[in-house]
Amino acid sequence: MKKIKNYLLPVFLLPVFFLLTQIFVVCRPLTPAKMNLFSAWAGHFFICLLLCELMVVAVLLLLKIKLFRLSWAEASLLCLFFFVFFFFERQIELVTQASHSPWLRKRYIEPLIVLALATIGWVAIRKKKAAALAGLFNWVILSLIVYQVYAVYQNRSRFASKNFAACLPSVSIESKNKRLPDVVYVLLDSYTSSRNLKEYWNYDNAPFEKKLTDLGFQIAADSHTSFDRTQFCMTSIMNLCADSALVASLSDMETGYWMNHNLVCQTFARAGYQIQNFSIFEIQNTVYPNSPFGYAGRAPGLIQNLISQFVILSLLEGSNRLNFFEKNRAILADLADTVQTQRPQFTYAHIVSPHVPYVIDSTGALTHVNTPSNDAQAYLAQLKGLNQWVVQWLAHFLSSRKGRESVIVIQGDHGFRYLPGQPWRESSGVLSAFYFPEKNHAPTLPANLPPTNSFRFIFRYLNTQ
Ligand SMILES: [Zn+2]
Repeated sequence: MKKIKNYLLPVFLLPVFFLLTQIFVVCRPLTPAKMNLFSAWAGHFFICLLLCELMVVAVLLLLKIKLFRLSWAEASLLCLFFFVFFFFERQIELVTQASHSPWLRKRYIEPLIVLALATIGWVAIRKKKAAALAGLFNWVILSLIVYQVYAVYQNRSRFASKNFAACLPSVSIESKNKRLPDVVYVLLDSYTSSRNLKEYWNYDNAPFEKKLTDLGFQIAADSHTSFDRTQFCMTSIMNLCADSALVASLSDMETGYWMNHNLVCQTFARAGYQIQNFSIFEIQNTVYPNSPFGYAGRAPGLIQNLISQFVILSLLEGSNRLNFFEKNRAILADLADTVQTQRPQFTYAHIVSPHVPYVIDSTGALTHVNTPSNDAQAYLAQLKGLNQWVVQWLAHFLSSRKGRESVIVIQGDHGFRYLPGQPWRESSGVLSAFYFPEKNHAPTLPANLPPTNSFRFIFRYLNTQ
């Protein structure tokens, strides 16, 4: 047997290592029902591996065109460096995002990495050491693969389906009243509590809260979530699941699945409600076209999930500030223009603000100043601007709903999350404001009502009608 060209191996081994590091994210079966099937996991792994290897072949052949005058060893080494960056850029981004050091920013780290790889490649080619270096990388990547196989084995419990369905409580709407009120759930992503705004920003949000209470809202001043990630917060809220360890163990695909088939919408639908989805999630197989996060609208499929691990999506994300601003505005406009049907309506609107990117100034207008995620003052300005949007929308909405009763909830899913030291008190504190149509019969809102219990509270109210 002819000796395998050592220098060609590492570039083909790299995708194996990459997919092993991402196996629980990328290769997950698409429905929880298939989670326990070995064939589903293995099938996804091999489809993804095949796609990655095809990309490797394409780049390798591109580098071998006559123009570059590279030997196979040299092309293989450069191809390897390209894919190291391509596969792991997302991981670099996640690490730099989590860091508070001003020097550990993506915009400094990534050019440094590119420069280092390019220099190593250039020196190796000049000194005719490309084959030797590529041979060395064989051992490095093989060792990494062995380590990663061990790490996957250690985490093997994640191959099994978590029994999320067992966590779902039994709830129903059994009102005697023929004319049930509409229910409008407005989620303001990343809206921290007024108590936190006072404590950490020294900002008094009382004027906004007073406008809400003047309109008849009650505010749960001490409302806290169990998570600081949108998917987990929303999955627990929309499925009334208080088992935070179970929710936190779900993958993005599973949270996507349980948002699409969430208990709250199913309960409303069973009671005859029409469901309106103005959210970033696919809900009951419908997608909202104005969602600011278009790509997150659907529970990600295999290919989508694989691609989202690459550099491409992170370049597209948040690139269009105007688009982001307008889409968030469009949600409120769509909410105001809702066609009023005979049937009662349940509406879930998910506004991706005051969440990053910071595109709204404190007057509610578009700002073009680019600010990093952890800029607490830009966050506060956006929150103030958003307050104005919400007050304007509410005035319009309530006056346009004459003769039609509505329960309205305005709630945050988690806090700002980027304060130095990331105090959990801040990350978990949220705005929770509830409006019930008849002031006199409105139930008293507990001050510490967690968002997970929002709909339990609403269902209980509807059942007393
Ligand atoms: Zn969120």
